[in-house]
Amino acid sequence: MFEKILIANRGEIALRVIRAAREMGIKSVAVHSTADADAMHVRMADESVCIGPAPSSESYLNKAAIISACEITGAQAVHPGYGFLSENASFAQALEDHGITFIGPSAEHIRIMGDKITAKETARELGIPVVPGSDGGVPDYETAQGVAEAIGYPVIIKATAGGGGRGMKVARNASELEVAFRTARSEAKAAFGNDEVYIEKYLQRPRHIEIQVFGDGKGSAVHLGERDCSLQRRHQKVFEEAPGPCITPAMRAEIGAICANAVAKINYIGAGTVEFLYEDGEFYFIEMNTRLQVEHPVTEAIFGVDLVREQIRVAAGLPMSFTQDALEINGHAIEVRINAEKLPNFTPCPGKVKVFHAPGGLGVRMDSALYGGYSIPPYYDSLIGKLIVHGRDRPEALARLRRALGELIVDGVDTSVPLFHALLAEPDIQAGDYSIHWLEKWLAAQFG
Ligand code: ADP
Repeated sequence: MFEKILIANRGEIALRVIRAAREMGIKSVAVHSTADADAMHVRMADESVCIGPAPSSESYLNKAAIISACEITGAQAVHPGYGFLSENASFAQALEDHGITFIGPSAEHIRIMGDKITAKETARELGIPVVPGSDGGVPDYETAQGVAEAIGYPVIIKATAGGGGRGMKVARNASELEVAFRTARSEAKAAFGNDEVYIEKYLQRPRHIEIQVFGDGKGSAVHLGERDCSLQRRHQKVFEEAPGPCITPAMRAEIGAICANAVAKINYIGAGTVEFLYEDGEFYFIEMNTRLQVEHPVTEAIFGVDLVREQIRVAAGLPMSFTQDALEINGHAIEVRINAEKLPNFTPCPGKVKVFHAPGGLGVRMDSALYGGYSIPPYYDSLIGKLIVHGRDRPEALARLRRALGELIVDGVDTSVPLFHALLAEPDIQAGDYSIHWLEKWLAAQFG
């Protein structure tokens, strides 16, 4: 087992990894930008190294500085968290070249899944059902017209190099296609430096269902059921739950086995998420994330496993500590993402937190790097915490969420807490009856 690992991230996810490492008796090294010198992850780690100035391009994305930090501190492995370098194949490769273990899948698997067209082709070859659409990239508007006619409107144009919900445009009919196609391309070019796009059938009322998979890198893999992440704003998740309210045990077993077998076949190592849109009983693959997800705690809650511990174990060459048969669902879990932002426009709202009080009690987990007196820097993501509740069933989890949100105090900045109080009062949310478009429609009705 490793003696020391470096965490190439910040915020709540850096704490999450430090905590797992400490329980395993592994020393942790935090890296930070000059803007994060006072951050909680720096205080909580055993050691820390400043790797550059505030902009993440010069610090948290600075591969050379991170590798140097490993060499200075003697860290044997790097956990990338999510975001930043977590799905960067050349970073995984560079670490390997320096004899440092990347706690995550191989550079090759990151590369395959990071290109959405190759990912979709690979998924199809591995027996995973995919969304109907273009075979590969669509080079020009004329080709786009042909593809859209063949699959039928509405269609969605997506960036091959896409991520974080960016570079996607919907065309409801032929007259919208040209503008949508050209905008998607220029946005993709600006955001990802690659203007290749592809086309898919735009599903009208799907749910976002994702399957958690985990491989040992030696041909064995398991699935840990699904998460329903349909409540999204601008294609970004805000509320996630497990198990999915519309998924039956038989459906879970079937799609779970398809995903676990697929990743086993390619000797996938570590945690991964196979994302689907789900409509009328059918699953349609959209992408695979080759990392730990923000919403992994809901899966941990219902299965009683520590996914970060497992990631570290398999990266060190140890077997997974569970088998498929031993994985049983216990109750229901919900996560809400607490952002420092102001409604109704969700304007980021960094600043000084005067008082921070985390909720507690049975079935409540608060993953946050906040503390009273901390100044949230303006340079990074607005996520300031994740509140995860676990109950014996969905109604109990909802009641617990309401109770825990009432205990949470973040004084000094605006947060998304009022949004969740309002959502919990909605009959559709109470019934678990919502698609990926529900939240946008609801927000439009509330705030216009
Ligand atoms: P990203 O990598 O940018 O997150 P995804 O391919 O995972 O992109 O899609 C993000 C979200 O966009 C999905 O959860 C869904 O809300 C919406 N979306 C993507 N593809 C489709 C589609 N074919 N039809 C309808 N909505 C889609």
